[in-house]
Amino acid sequence: MRPLTEHDIRTSFINCSKGEAKRAGLPRDLADLPWDDLDFLGWRDPGAPERAYLVAEADGSLVGVALRVTSGASRSFTARSMCSFCLTTHTGGGVALMTARRTGEPGRQGNTVGQYLCADLACPLYLRGKKEAAGAGVVDESLTPAEKAARAHANVRAFLDKVTA
Ligand SMILES: [Zn+2]
Repeated sequence: MRPLTEHDIRTSFINCSKGEAKRAGLPRDLADLPWDDLDFLGWRDPGAPERAYLVAEADGSLVGVALRVTSGASRSFTARSMCSFCLTTHTGGGVALMTARRTGEPGRQGNTVGQYLCADLACPLYLRGKKEAAGAGVVDESLTPAEKAARAHANVRAFLDKVTA
């Protein structure tokens, strides 16, 4: 994706207040992120571990979503879980349940959408082999990295559609 500025990111959020968007802790060194390898940008708030964010391009515009992280405390250390965006399997808390408040009236009523995702939201890097999941058993697939990235992006889009539906 194209490199994003702080302004791009803060104005992209669709499911949080202007104040929350302003206070969101952004990744450090935005300019140095591996943008060429990112199908979307996801990160944990450096100042608030229970918060995470996701920004993706959808139909030419940026869509940002604020997420709440529910730690997988009930999951045993050895259990494997899979990220529903990139299908990478992790052990030991490498996957976390993340919930997004829905937009509009459902959101005002407290409705959320939740999915199990890579806890660091670094899906594009796992897909390209630039980051390795702890204890991961790589699913033997015949897809190329580009095909996996396209599938992950489609999964992200489907998630965004649920948030805004
Ligand atoms: Zn992932």
